[in-house]
Amino acid sequence: MSVSHRLTAPAPGWTMTTDVVVVGSGVAGLTVALNIRKAGLRALVVTKAMLDDGSTRWAQGGIAAALGEGDTPEQHLDDTLVAGAGLCDAEAVRALVTEGPDAVRRLIGVGAEFDLDADGEILLTREGGHHRRRIAHAGGDATGAEISRALVSAVRSDPGVELIEHALVLDLLTDAEGHAAGLTLHVMGEGQRDGVGAVRARAVVLATGGMGQVFSATTNPAVSTGDGVALALRAGAEVTDLEFVQFHPTVLWLGPDAEGQQPLVSEAVRGEGAYLVDADGTRFMVGQHELNELAPRDIVAKAITRQMQLKGAEHMYLDGRHFGAEMWETRFPTILASCRAHGIDPVTGLIPVAPAAHYASGGIRTDLRGRTTVPGLYACGEVACTGVHGANRLASNSLLEGLVFAERIAADLAERHRAGDLPERAVDVAGARAAVAVPLPAPEARAEIQRLMSRGAGVLRSARSMAATAAGLADLADQARWHVAEEKPADPRVETWEAANLHLVASALVAAAAQREETRGCHWREDFPERDDAHWRRHLITTLATATGTPVSR
Ligand SMILES: Cc1cc2nc3c(=O)[nH]c(=O)nc-3n(C[C@H](O)[C@H](O)[C@H](O)COP(=O)(O)OP(=O)(O)OC[C@H]3O[C@@H](n4cnc5c(N)ncnc54)[C@H](O)[C@@H]3O)c2cc1C
Repeated sequence: MSVSHRLTAPAPGWTMTTDVVVVGSGVAGLTVALNIRKAGLRALVVTKAMLDDGSTRWAQGGIAAALGEGDTPEQHLDDTLVAGAGLCDAEAVRALVTEGPDAVRRLIGVGAEFDLDADGEILLTREGGHHRRRIAHAGGDATGAEISRALVSAVRSDPGVELIEHALVLDLLTDAEGHAAGLTLHVMGEGQRDGVGAVRARAVVLATGGMGQVFSATTNPAVSTGDGVALALRAGAEVTDLEFVQFHPTVLWLGPDAEGQQPLVSEAVRGEGAYLVDADGTRFMVGQHELNELAPRDIVAKAITRQMQLKGAEHMYLDGRHFGAEMWETRFPTILASCRAHGIDPVTGLIPVAPAAHYASGGIRTDLRGRTTVPGLYACGEVACTGVHGANRLASNSLLEGLVFAERIAADLAERHRAGDLPERAVDVAGARAAVAVPLPAPEARAEIQRLMSRGAGVLRSARSMAATAAGLADLADQARWHVAEEKPADPRVETWEAANLHLVASALVAAAAQREETRGCHWREDFPERDDAHWRRHLITTLATATGTPVSR
């Protein structure tokens, strides 16, 4: 299999060589890089902005692992399977929950400092869907920032890890046998490696994070444009479960026109006893689920959306006034500061909240060693679909998945290296040139894609809303093709490459979501409100049709 489509881009003007190229510098990418070093492999980490600019830094609540007294991996497994609504891969979950506690301890060994009690034991909190306190946190609600700090500092002090920041990876390069052999990238800067270049490598690891920017309102940072999924599709890889987008129920509501990354009010706030109310002060979650406000996220997001519809309101409220100032300041300093920066004081007032796109449960399909369906191409972290999350991710399982499966990829690469199965690869330049160049949309397409997706493929979906979304996306593709035909193509640059990636990912997501005629996990169909195990207890796999370059789900 070789790359059938590629982004329109200038030919590479420079080349460099490494053993393994890792794309992305969140928890997943940096963990791979640090671990393959132990096998004597050189790592090159390429990242779009600064090293800590992905979602990892923003994670608040914590990292789930059976570390507490009386807790066991088996109980963690049970909670994960329930949240996943019948579509988790039990073996993947078993790997996560059994290897998770030691992976967290190894992260502590790398330098991450978690919050401890007076006896030096890790403090654990609860989040939605967990029947036990098993969420380790750092800096109160700044867990991701601490994990990122520790990993960034570790890679910076490892001379065997080379780092390129401000570099947008474009497409995969393969050898004549279709094995991943490197990638093309665009370095934004001035210097030796400026503009489009190529990296040659024995294997490629995608750790590019999520795709929240495909919607107007999201908790994800600006870099989360689904580039890894788009690259993998163009390279012929299978992606799966894309329809299962988790909408976080409690994102700070900043007004009807707010766009892009919005501040999150972590589930841990509800875990510590804050509750949801409508404008009349009614606790509408009571009676909807045995865990009330701590029901799994999809249940809470749907209940909020329903209550918003019922009341004709644009948001609901979170009430944590009973915590008092001291608890807000010590336990949730980040959230307190971000609320106050927007003129809301949770100590004395209600916090306006509404659901926003938060987490992609699906992604590039991998096996338990992180291998994708393209030989030599690996994926881990949020960009991957290992089978751990099924139709809905259990809170705080994602940082853990990033850690555990990154370690698994490193172990697989080390084993292949030892066995002589990781030779240098010759890049198939002719094959790369033969791939169809995807016409680039205008940069303004980004906002239009987000608007279309939020309107028709958000928390509430129906065949009609998704047909309208698909038609809007098809129009954008037609416009890009028309501009090429008229010899007025959009310039190849970061904004248009990202818009092309968002467009492809949005189209793939809608193709899968339209096909799944049931409600399951975080995928909610108004026209098919029930879960339908007889027809739909299965995964939808999406690939790119070679002839048309459009995503097809089966
Ligand atoms: C606000 C918020 C709160 C969260 N809270 C929690 C929590 O409490 N617990 C939990 O378990 N999970 C939480 N999550 C989810 C979790 O943070 C993410 O799923 C996880 O950090 C993803 O890690 P990652 O390494 O896969 O990707 P990221 O950390 O997102 O990193 C992706 C990297 O890829 C780079 N990249 C992307 N595209 C390209 C490209 N084309 N070329 C080069 N580089 C590229 C990015 O720049 C970035 O460095 C939260 C997420 C958000 C947004």
